[in-house]
Amino acid sequence: MSFITRFAPSPTGPLHLGHAYSAIRAHDMARAAQGRFLLRIEDIDQTRARPDWEAQILDDLSWLGLTWDAPPQRQSDRLPRYEAALDQLWEAGLLYPCRCRRRDIAAAASAPQEGAPLHGPDGLIYPGTCRDTPRTGPRPKGEALRLDMKKAAQDTVYYQEISDGSHPTMTPEAMTARIGDIVLSRRDFLGSYHLSVVLDDADQGVTHVIRGADLAEATPIHVLLQRLLGLPTPLYHHHRLIRDETGKRLAKRDDARAIATYRAAGDTPADIRRRIGL
Ligand code: GLU
Repeated sequence: MSFITRFAPSPTGPLHLGHAYSAIRAHDMARAAQGRFLLRIEDIDQTRARPDWEAQILDDLSWLGLTWDAPPQRQSDRLPRYEAALDQLWEAGLLYPCRCRRRDIAAAASAPQEGAPLHGPDGLIYPGTCRDTPRTGPRPKGEALRLDMKKAAQDTVYYQEISDGSHPTMTPEAMTARIGDIVLSRRDFLGSYHLSVVLDDADQGVTHVIRGADLAEATPIHVLLQRLLGLPTPLYHHHRLIRDETGKRLAKRDDARAIATYRAAGDTPADIRRRIGL
């Protein structure tokens, strides 16, 4: 069986211990399986991505001893692919334009008759204010587009989790109640993390997605999009997260745990592996 996996950093900050763990796990699993290890630069959000972070991330990965089997793929090079997928979903009547601002959504979601506001993988679950906007004509540009979850989620989604052999599932009712109408194309940039990750994994031929447990709640969204777009569903491995001494998950802005900081202090790649329990 083929084994193609990837590491997909967003160049919005330095590579830290948590990323190094993810990259090394994916790399080592690919090598053990005589498979392929690919890199993808998730720079779709050009308001936050920076070329100097990208250069530093690639340098840190090489220093850690990782090698990749093709030149890195960059999301900013793939906008026509995302446009085509948005057209496909728009023509199927599954998207609608939304003009709500974050504060409108917060206000609508916390209106007294709505009960406690519910949070999904992308923050507050959208209360549906713009859902009745007409979906005719060409796909609107320069506006946020949301997925009509009720219309999109017709069957239970499921995938195989290879870390523990389980088969997580999510029913259409749960997709609607716990995820809701997520944004698939933003006002300030084309596409979204969910849309691009699904298209990129498919186009890179990824058979095994190895990533942190914090992304597991987004996986049902990805499986649904794979179905809607006629793409294969890979196997998933959501690994443990690296935490600091107080149990808090490391964040990008946690520069104290940046690989660059450890390098500057004289760590070797073997020291880094030891720090993250590898
Ligand atoms: N770019 C994402 C991150 O840095 C990873 C996405 C993924 O592995 O699916 O958290």
